[in-house]
This record gives sequence, C-alpha cells and structure tokens, in this order.
Amino acid sequence: MKTEFIIEAALAIQQTILANESTLESLDREIGDGDHYINMKRGATTVAEMQADLASLKPDEALNKIGLKLLSTIGGASGPLLASFFMSMAKVLKENGDESNLKIAAAFAGGVQAIIQRGKAGLGEKTMLDVLIPVSNEFVLQATQNNDIKLICAKLIQTAEQGMLSTKDLIATKGRAAGLGERAIGHIDPGAKSCQLMIETVCHLLLK
Ligand code: ADP
Ligand code: MG
Ligand code: MG
Repeated sequence: MKTEFIIEAALAIQQTILANESTLESLDREIGDGDHYINMKRGATTVAEMQADLASLKPDEALNKIGLKLLSTIGGASGPLLASFFMSMAKVLKENGDESNLKIAAAFAGGVQAIIQRGKAGLGEKTMLDVLIPVSNEFVLQATQNNDIKLICAKLIQTAEQGMLSTKDLIATKGRAAGLGERAIGHIDPGAKSCQLMIETVCHLLLK
C-alpha cells in the first residue's frame, strides 16, 4: 500500500460523495434525520484537504491521521464509527505490515471489527455493517485464495452492492431508523449506501 494511493482514493471518494448528494440526502431523510450527506461531505472534504499533510507519512500513519481528523469533523453516528475504522485499520497495518493483499484485507477486517465494537451492532441490523462485514469477509477470502487485485475488486464491488441492497428489506435495530419499526422496510440504509459507494470508488481506481 502506498500513501500516494490513499490520497488518490480520498480525492476520488470526495468526488463520489459530492456526485451522490441527492441519493444520500434523500435516503437519510426517509429513515433518519436527513444529515448523512452533509456529514459525509464534511468528512470527505476535510480528508481531501489533508493531502499535503499526509504525503510524507507512512500509509498506517496517514490512515491514523485521517481517523483522528474524522472524529472531530463528521459528527453524527457515522463520524466516530468511520473514525474508529481508520484508526484500527492503521493499527493493524502498523503491527502486521502492508506488503500483501492478505495483510491489507486483515487490516480492513480490523477496521470493521472496531465499528462492530463501537456501535454494538452486527449483520442484519440495517446499518453500514451490512456492507462492511460481507465485504471484509470476501476480501479476506479472496486474498487467502491469492487472487489478483482485479478479481478481488470485481468481487468486492459485487458484494458491496448486494449488502447495500439487502438493507432495503430489513427492520433497523440500531441507529435512528430503529424507532421506525416496519416503516423502515423498503428504504436502503444511508450509511450502507455511502460505504458501498466508497468501496466501489476505491475498487474502480484499482481496476484502472
Ligand atoms: P446520524 O444518524 O447521527 O444522523 P448519519 O446520518 O451520518 O448520523 O449516519 C447514519 C448511519 O450510521 C446509518 O445509516 C447507519 O448506517 C450508521 N449507524 C448508525 N448507528 C450505527 C451502529 N450502531 N453501528 C453501525 N452503524 C450505525
Ligand atoms: Mg443522519
Ligand atoms: Mg444526525
């Protein structure tokens, strides 16, 4: 992994978030409080603006710095969750290294585990974890099988899409939508959508 790539990915994610304003805004208006786009835009813009500060850092240091910054900028439920993802991913990379897809997959899994612990949620609760858990599992599986990065990315794009769509038929048991009961059915979770978009964006860069 290279810090250069982290910066490239951050800039691409910012563009993706900005391009999906109406989607993210309306999903959170339907089953939340309508601010998910604003929160994600603030986070993505802040990280994009860190470009110069990140350039000289090692990848794990850059991801940790991103996490720390997100903690104080995104706000909402998603802010501390995404912040803990980056900080925990950074910690695993620092301890285990980043010189193979399997090591990067393990670090990604460490980040997802931090979200699970912090948010006390799991699969099927209509949150971002319905994208992140299956993607993390698939990433480890694909990397364990020694598949090349293009095949891994194609699988992860597919898995993220399925996970995002799976939230549509679920009742929420965590987050704001938990109070809606059956009224949340028929709506995709906004955090699942933004995570799917971010994963797709990073994978598209790797498929270039
Ligand atoms: P808020 O709900 O505070 O307004 P956002 O709108 O930015 O914050 O983020 C909402 C998203 O956060 C939800 O769509 C969901 O995916 C995610 N989320 C909320 N609570 C949890 C949790 N406990 N675990 C995992 N994800 C969660
Ligand atoms: Mg919200
Ligand atoms: Mg809010």
